Amino acid sequence: MKCHICDETCTSFEDAKTGIRYYHCLCCEYIFKSPEHYQSIEVQKSRYDLHENNEDDAGYRAYFQRFVNFILPYVGKPKHALDFGCGRSTLLAKILKNIGIDTDAYDPIYHPDTLNHSKKYDLIVSTEVFEHLHDPKSVFSDLVSRLNEGGYMAIQTQFHPNEKEAFLFWYYHHDPTHIVFFRPESFRKLAAMNGCTYVADNGKNMVVLRKG
Ligand SMILES: [Zn+2]
Repeated sequence: MKCHICDETCTSFEDAKTGIRYYHCLCCEYIFKSPEHYQSIEVQKSRYDLHENNEDDAGYRAYFQRFVNFILPYVGKPKHALDFGCGRSTLLAKILKNIGIDTDAYDPIYHPDTLNHSKKYDLIVSTEVFEHLHDPKSVFSDLVSRLNEGGYMAIQTQFHPNEKEAFLFWYYHHDPTHIVFFRPESFRKLAAMNGCTYVADNGKNMVVLRKG
């Protein structure tokens, strides 16, 4: 199997507990489940509908605030932002609006009609979305095309441990809607392929890139 990001040949391993095969690219460190485990949007929605995301919950607000606190020092003074894959809640967009960033919230399931295809953004944020994507390479390119030159993309997804035994022990791939897994190197590759500069990561789950 070729890597869905960089097209290099992958190694593979199986989770003996679930029978799920994983493909691991040693070049860009991307790991993806065998594509027969990718789920339709309807099956994904039935699982997302179970998520309780209460916007008044202090823990839920703090979760987004940690992301905002990490990215803000890197992204200049964005006027217009897009929260790509916000889910049912638009809390992150509200937090950004409160600090003066006009933010649109788009989600293919819950807010599907909010994407203005002619609008360009200074900042695109996407939290806990990329691990669900069947084709992250295409989505990444599409998001870059929605950025102004010099605009920023900030992504949150858990970085995998990059070692088979540790990966199999890792909780994050047990969610059936989580199908693809990244490391900073995967985003470095995506950045390079799309004319972006790799700006920063937090070594754990957040990365910031700049167009140009
Ligand atoms: Zn690769």
